[in-house]
Parts: sequence; C-alpha cells; structure tokens
Amino acid sequence: MAYKSVNPYNGKVLRTFDDMTDEQLEAAVARAAKTYEENWSLKDISYRGSVLKRAAAILRERLDEFARPITLEMGKLWGESQDEVRLSADILEYYANHGEEFLAPKTLNVQEGEAVVESEPIGIIFGVEPWNFPYYQLARVVGPSFILGNVMMVKHASNVPQCAEAFEKLFQQAGAPAGVYTNLFATKDQVARLISDPRIKAVALTGSEGAGSVVASQAGKSLKKSTMELGGSDAFIVLEDADLDRAVSWAVWGRMNNTGQCCVASKRFIVVDKVADEFLKRFKASLQLLKPGDPMNPETTLSPLSSEGALRDLLKQVEGAVSNGAKLVLGGKRLDRPGAFIEAGILTDIKPSNPAYYQEFFGPVALFFRVKDESEAIALANDSPFGLGGSVFTEDVERGKHVARKIHTGMVFINQATWTAPELPFGGIKNSGYGRELSELGLQEFVNKKLIRVSEALPAAEFPVA
Ligand code: NAP
Repeated sequence: MAYKSVNPYNGKVLRTFDDMTDEQLEAAVARAAKTYEENWSLKDISYRGSVLKRAAAILRERLDEFARPITLEMGKLWGESQDEVRLSADILEYYANHGEEFLAPKTLNVQEGEAVVESEPIGIIFGVEPWNFPYYQLARVVGPSFILGNVMMVKHASNVPQCAEAFEKLFQQAGAPAGVYTNLFATKDQVARLISDPRIKAVALTGSEGAGSVVASQAGKSLKKSTMELGGSDAFIVLEDADLDRAVSWAVWGRMNNTGQCCVASKRFIVVDKVADEFLKRFKASLQLLKPGDPMNPETTLSPLSSEGALRDLLKQVEGAVSNGAKLVLGGKRLDRPGAFIEAGILTDIKPSNPAYYQEFFGPVALFFRVKDESEAIALANDSPFGLGGSVFTEDVERGKHVARKIHTGMVFINQATWTAPELPFGGIKNSGYGRELSELGLQEFVNKKLIRVSEALPAAEFPVA
C-alpha cells in the first residue's frame, strides 16, 4: 500500500489508501475518454472557464479546509499552506480569464487565399506530480488543460493522498462532468501501461531527474509529447554593489521557503569576495533565528521535512559533502526532538571534486561559494547539470540583466529569489527538464495547432486530368 498520509511532525499515520485495481483504472480511462469526446472538448470555452472560476472560488472560500491536509501530510508551515491554496486559485482563474485571448485563431500572411491556425484540444493529458506543492503543481497543469478542452488524469505523490483526493473533489464540487479530472492511486506498473495506452495523448511530469528520465522515455517510446519539470540547484549571486539587507533577507526566504524543498529554492549562494564575509555572517545569524515547532502553529518558522525518508536522504548528503572536504559552518544536523526536523545549515569549501558540488540539496542546507568577481560568479553558476532558475543581486539593474543573460537557466530573477506567478512562464533547461508551465506558454504545450487553408480555385497544373 504505497499511498499513505503520515504527519512528519510526529510520525503519526493519518490514513492509508489502497492502490487502485486494473479494473478501476480501465473504467477511469474509459470514462475520461468518453467525457472528453461527449461532454467537454466541444463545449463553449466560457463553460469550461466557469468551472475553473467556481473551483477558484471554492478554494478561496474554504481556504483553511484545503490548507490543512498540506500541513498535516507534508509539514508545510501553516501560512505557506494558505498561500499555496490562494496561488492555486489564482492560476485556475488566470486561465479562465485569459484562455480565449491566448487561444484565438491566428491568421497567416499568405500569397493567395487564406490560412489560419486554430487551437484544438488533444484528449487526455496524464500528470505525474510531486508532493512539495500538492495543489499548486496540479493547478499548473489543470488550468491550461481545462480551458483548452483537454481532460486530466493525475498520479499524485504517494505521501499526499488526502490532498490528491481533495483536488479531485474540488472539481466535482465546481460542477465539472465526471471524468474531467481523475485522481489515480496507481502503481508504477500501471503508470507505465497507462502512458502506452492510445487514449492518453501526452504526459506532464514534475519531479526528480530519476522519475523524469523513466517517464520521459516511456512517453517517447509511445511517441507522446511530454513536459518535464525537474530538479534544480539555483545560483543566488550577490555582487559587490548589492543591497545586503535585501540580499540576506531574500537568501533566507530563498533557502527556507517550503523548508528548502522547492525546485527553485536558492541552493548555491555565490558571493563576490568583497561582501562575502559580511553576507555569510548575516545569513548565518538570520538562519539561527528560526524557531522549530508544530507547522500548524503560526509562530513556527522551521517546520519538519516532508518525511523521515527525506530527512535521512538530506542528512546523508550533508555527511557525504563533509567527508569529501566541505565544512559545515552552521547546523545541518538532526534536531533532538520527535519529527523529521533538521537545523538550517550552511556548507562551505565545496570543491568541484566533491559530489555535493553538482547535487541538488532538497532541504534547508545552503551551499556557500566565495568568488573573485562577476565573471567567476557566472562561470560557477553555469557549472551545474541543472538549469532551472537563479537570481542576481546588484544595485545596477542593467548589470543584473547582463548577468542574467549569461546564466544558462530557464528563469533569472534580479534582486529577488526565483519565484512564481500565474503569468510568468516556469521551466528549465539541461537536467531541469523541458517545456514550460504557467503563462501563455504553459497553455501552448498540449494543443493541436491546426492549419486550415483555403486556396483560391487554381487547378493543379502538372498532371493531366481526365
Ligand atoms: P519524485 O520522487 O520524482 O516524485 C515525483 C512524482 O513522480 C511522484 O508522483 C512519484 O510517485 C512519481 N514517480 C517517481 N518515480 C516514478 C517512476 N519510476 N514511474 C512513475 N512515477 C514515478 O520527486 P519528489 O521527491 O516527489 O519531488 C522532488 C523533486 O521534484 C525535486 O528534484 C524537485 O526539484 C523537483 N520539482 C521540480 C519542479 C519544477 O517545476 N521544475 C517543481 C517541484 C519539484 P511516488 O510518490 O509514488 O514515488
């Protein structure tokens, strides 16, 4: 039984869920395919928009009810869980409000006659999603799918089954026909079979490189388009002319948001020599102010990691970094209390020969690097298998943009840690994956861009016609 709710604050098992049977899976796929054909894709866009708007309204009206299972199942701080519910509502509403404009037919300039590109849905989109933002990740794929007329089947992470169920119920309550959104408590074998099923038209995965590589190859084998939103090790560059108050405050937020378990968390702090000591001193002192406790308590600022397993993996990574020559200058140890708690930590002296240099640290442990100047900072930022986000701190915005253009990632934020909004495209390059979610770009991933050509009535000339 893989699907299990365990509270990482106290280790208590909250609920367990049975894997679905093959018969249940077949019935769900058949229902989704029928709903797509008969009761969704051909409906007016305003109807599908109204379902998204109702879902957004329900999320806002019952904010705490939706936020609760996030904190209970994966330990997110209560205020952050509430913010995630609000952000998910904003995303659904964004596509309801802008879908028609983004999907408007495009007339082409042609030498004769007419040509127009129209946007059509393609069918069932299959999402494989992670636990770290249990609703936001779903909203990112559901908003664009629904406004276009696709339907969604989702295999959520096995440690957030209550959130998975709550999101499915949300669309029932918002009036979506049965089969428009289906949660699947599917096994990995069932996932593999589903991807090869001809009724599934495309696959969107958010998760680790390992899962991405397996699922992308399964999709590729069946010639299905996929998007891959994978891990990252974002650089947080501080130049000598940065406002240090601002940089330190964003550094703490960038590393600690979601207890560091964020694909676009700031993970590598690359600071030029001139301000490195001061930055490190203040970053350290700020991290020491964090208060561990019950994530349901609004006073708590350091929550547990999502699970005991996640904690063990991170502690092992820290040990590995130290045994290969890095110095742990702050924290990075298990806290002496129940629950999956680790002290916020900072590692320094990480050389390229240390495996940690190229790894993603998925939790509140920062990798700190001191560099001579801007060009060394850029070179170090680019010396990574990942290419998701990144940030640059400087008082000279034009300089910030120049540095941003030299960083090999999908997103760079100036004077802010990398973050997200419905209207901003989200995604990476290199091992961080391919494709984009959110914004207009996120809506253009799983679309049939159909050309309709009207030619002036010229007869075909080359061959004789009887
Ligand atoms: P994960 O272990 O890869 O899990 C993600 C999803 O993939 C889960 O639903 C998981 O199911 C499923 N999965 C794993 N292996 C699979 C396989 N062989 N076949 C089919 N499905 C499989 O990742 P995670 O630990 O939950 O999430 C952390 C990672 O996600 C980090 O690397 C983070 O950076 C990345 N992430 C990226 C983004 C982005 O937008 N780029 C956003 C958030 C997170 P089970 O739970 O049942 O194993």
